[in-house]
Amino acid sequence: MSELHKNYIGGEWVGGDARPNINPSNTNEVVGEYAQGTAADAKAAIDAATDAFKTWSLSGIQQRHDILKATGDEILARKEEIGRLLAREEGKTLPEAIGETARAAQIFHFFAGETLRMAGEILPSVRPGIEVTVTREPVGVVGLITPWNFPIAIPAWKLAPAIAYGNTVVLKPADLVPGCAWTIVDILVRNGLPKGVVNLVMGRGSVVGQVILESPKVNAVSFTGSVGTGKKVAEASIQVMRKFQLEMGGKNPTIVLDDADLKVAVETTANSAFFSTGQRCTASSRLIVTEQIHDKFVEALAARIKDLVVDDSIKQGTHIGPVVDQSQLDQDLKYIQIAKDEGGTLVVGGDRIERENPGFFLQPALFTGTTPDMRINKEEVFGPVASVIKVKDYEEALAVANDTPFGLASGIVTTSLKHASHFRRNAEAGMVMVNLPTAGVDYHVPFGGRKASSYGPREQGKYAAEFFTTVKTSYTQP
Ligand code: NAD
Repeated sequence: MSELHKNYIGGEWVGGDARPNINPSNTNEVVGEYAQGTAADAKAAIDAATDAFKTWSLSGIQQRHDILKATGDEILARKEEIGRLLAREEGKTLPEAIGETARAAQIFHFFAGETLRMAGEILPSVRPGIEVTVTREPVGVVGLITPWNFPIAIPAWKLAPAIAYGNTVVLKPADLVPGCAWTIVDILVRNGLPKGVVNLVMGRGSVVGQVILESPKVNAVSFTGSVGTGKKVAEASIQVMRKFQLEMGGKNPTIVLDDADLKVAVETTANSAFFSTGQRCTASSRLIVTEQIHDKFVEALAARIKDLVVDDSIKQGTHIGPVVDQSQLDQDLKYIQIAKDEGGTLVVGGDRIERENPGFFLQPALFTGTTPDMRINKEEVFGPVASVIKVKDYEEALAVANDTPFGLASGIVTTSLKHASHFRRNAEAGMVMVNLPTAGVDYHVPFGGRKASSYGPREQGKYAAEFFTTVKTSYTQP
């Protein structure tokens, strides 16, 4: 058995029951053994973060900068190795995994810089002689609960601002992908993060996550995951009147208009729908296509899908890695069957396939002849499954695109400036892409959605300060 990767609580590595981290490209391969935290571990982590907050909240910005910068440097220097771990635990391809790792490093660098840019305001009072200052302070102990599909980027984009703005943390990564979160915490600790500032408790959501949600000592929770769990986070947070932030699911549309460049349309939608095995919250699963280009587009996209190599995530030449685990594969296959039963036409893919090693390999699936009211167009599948909805014109396309409870990302492929501009203004989504895949975002600008996709302030960029700090207005009569 490989070495146990322990939880990190109050500056100590703490063991306990282990859980194997299985490679979805080869289920015979154990990526590593990771501790399964208990409720007592989670409580100890919250206590450690509470103690550490007293000093960390007053720590100097040079110290915070240096730790974040050094952490980013080390992640970048080790991006091939960490990317390999990511590809083996989650299943995205090696180039995707290395790219995600580099992005995590850049996020740490960005927030290292933000520590030096913290500023407040001084305003005159409406009462003469009184001075008003507006300053930002850390929120306190923050619980960070993360999903499996971005094992390093999402922990990074919550940890880095939490630390930069002087908070202390209890991090609970997703059960399926503890390896990358463990690696970041190990790097932070070796680069000088004082004990108790970040506490890592790997384990089950219903055990570790639940303790975080129920504890009145946790002053804020930043959550990314499914809508169902997000609602639990919201309900529990209201009970203790804490700040919370939710990033959840999507049913993201990409519109393809008659005037689109066909090549751009095919590359954009193939990437949006199928890369990273379609397991991105920003993936496009609804392709809304106008009548004149519909047949050409479907034919070209189907041909492109047939060229996509589905195989082991670390094998050179793989375009699409495996689905993350058996239960996600079952969900994907269930929705493929639902789409067939609802009358959709399966143009290509949709079968489970065998490769050299046992894994969860699924051919990317494309449906045509679907309508907006079908379940395949309403519910998030979270796999390599996309459906085409044929529409008459731009106006109908926009209405269909917005006809969803979700509002994370929304895309359009067009050469019309008029339609692109109108869409940017009228798409009901937090992020809009013109002639670009809906997935794939920058690390220095806000990320987040509207409607059922998100709740609370945006993540990333300077907007992260909205969640990870609290504003104080002071009045002084000198
Ligand atoms: P999930 O909701 O099952 O789990 C997310 C996290 O919550 C995990 O760490 C899990 O252990 C924890 N959790 C589960 N039950 C809990 C409980 N009772 N109390 C506290 N924590 C609990 O989601 P997932 O399957 O890991 O991720 C897939 C989902 O995440 C998809 O819906 C996807 O769209 C979404 N997602 C959204 C974004 C975004 O930024 N909008 C990004 C990535 C993924």
